[in-house]
Amino acid sequence: MNTKRYDIIIAGAGIVGLASAMNLLKIKPNLKIAILEKENKIALHQTGNNSGVIHSGIYYKPGSQKAVNCKLGYDKMLQFARENDIPFDICGKIIVATQTKELASLENIYNRGVANGLNGIKKISAEETKEMEPYVQSIGSVWVPQAGIIDYKKVAAKYAEIMQELGGEINLGHKITGVKESNEGVAIETENQTFFAKKFINACGLYSDKITKMSNGDADVQIIPFRGEYYVLNKKKEYLVKNLIYPVPDPQFPFLGVHYTRMLMQYWLLLEKDIRKPI
Ligand SMILES: Cc1cc2nc3c(=O)[nH]c(=O)nc-3n(C[C@H](O)[C@H](O)[C@H](O)COP(=O)(O)OP(=O)(O)OC[C@H]3O[C@@H](n4cnc5c(N)ncnc54)[C@H](O)[C@@H]3O)c2cc1C
Repeated sequence: MNTKRYDIIIAGAGIVGLASAMNLLKIKPNLKIAILEKENKIALHQTGNNSGVIHSGIYYKPGSQKAVNCKLGYDKMLQFARENDIPFDICGKIIVATQTKELASLENIYNRGVANGLNGIKKISAEETKEMEPYVQSIGSVWVPQAGIIDYKKVAAKYAEIMQELGGEINLGHKITGVKESNEGVAIETENQTFFAKKFINACGLYSDKITKMSNGDADVQIIPFRGEYYVLNKKKEYLVKNLIYPVPDPQFPFLGVHYTRMLMQYWLLLEKDIRKPI
């Protein structure tokens, strides 16, 4: 079996791998770039199964890489969506306190939002919260007008289209099983082919630690995944939620907490089978 040779091979056709390939080709159109993806479609993992929220960056520590990159990514995402006719809706969100003990954290989140340069965020009373979301009981909230929604499957599909127009390749059904570095570059084995590249980018999402350990067994990296569950509101109950409703996150956990989001298109319509569990 002959070895296919590239300048850069990217592992994973999620949003990170696709965006990396597209932007590298925009900067250096002569590069020979291929993506290797184990599934038979792009964006089947996190990218195609997330909440579809365009985050504003309110939660992050001011000045941190996360805060800086979230703002930059937010602006670039909206610009890309506008340029490529991808629908989005800057509907805003509320972060809701329901217990007195959450008020200090809510205040901290508000202060971070101000420090991160979010315009128009404001603390709102229980009555003002009800004007926005009539079925929310709160003791106070923060309104974040910048938060929005988009269909990240559509964004990923557009990245894939552009990167291929620019000469990039997407090889689906290629599960990477081995990565060996040498002075000349990197040999990448999949279940059915061997590839060689001068540079290798690992964008395998929740599996990126396993890919890293294929070339460096001693690498001190480990992804700690968490299982989550989605419920889709019964059509008759959709009126209960107008836009995005989040709790004050519990600082004990690295999540935003159980939240309600509106999607641009009904999530279950994107799936091959109807997984709705009405509540
Ligand atoms: C439940 C949930 C909700 C979220 N909500 C939001 C949100 O609302 N807004 C937001 O901005 N972010 C959200 N995120 C985060 C966001 O979805 C992720 O940060 C982003 O999708 C990560 O993209 P990725 O390309 O790194 O990973 P992925 O999309 O997971 O892509 C990794 C790819 O690597 C491939 N791969 C893995 N192993 C191999 C292998 N051995 N060989 C070849 N290919 C391989 C996989 O098949 C996959 O296609 C959410 C995440 C989760 C889990």
